Amino acid sequence: MEKLKEKILNEGKVREGNILKVDCFLNHQMDIKFLNEVGQEFRERFKDIKVDKILTIEASGIGIAAIVSQYFDYVPVVFAKKTESLNLDKEVYEAEVASFTKKKTYKVRVGKQFIKEGENILIIDDFLAKGCAAKGMIDLVNQAGANLVGIGIVIEKGFQEGREVLEGMGARVESLAIIDKFEDGKIVFR
Ligand code: 5GP
Repeated sequence: MEKLKEKILNEGKVREGNILKVDCFLNHQMDIKFLNEVGQEFRERFKDIKVDKILTIEASGIGIAAIVSQYFDYVPVVFAKKTESLNLDKEVYEAEVASFTKKKTYKVRVGKQFIKEGENILIIDDFLAKGCAAKGMIDLVNQAGANLVGIGIVIEKGFQEGREVLEGMGARVESLAIIDKFEDGKIVFR
């Protein structure tokens, strides 16, 4: 998606440890007009599939998924929660996720009533690095007996193993921009 690449080049910042900061338009401050274009692009990429629900992970996935849902007939958005809350029913699916940015492992949960057997689930997330977050979400989908129909990623870091891991699990991965490498602080796209 050319406009996304332009925005990454103009507004993104490369940080130590192969981290790209795009918090001015994607995951802190959010450019809503632009995110509507992201929603349309995902719709185009996944136009051949029936989606019953979108699954994402808190926090940064939520806003993006909510906008994307509007281009999939307003299907419900379910987000995996990172905190164990008293409000959350005891009946949950739970999976472990290793965080690339935070260098720790945490659990994610979804109430069993929100992902049902046989539902077609589209996973949406902001970044794909090692694939750990998506892997955790696939685990939740599998526990529920639902069907994973695709994984939509806004920015993929193609030099990390995420795609290989997810495709190895049989998933279809669509990324709107793939970064090949960071070279002397510059972003090189595939
Ligand atoms: P993975 O689980 O694929 O290793 O990493 C994906 C998750 O880590 C995303 O949900 C995202 O929040 C975070 N992440 C990974 N790499 C980056 C990055 O370069 N920049 C930002 N802002 N987040 C990242």
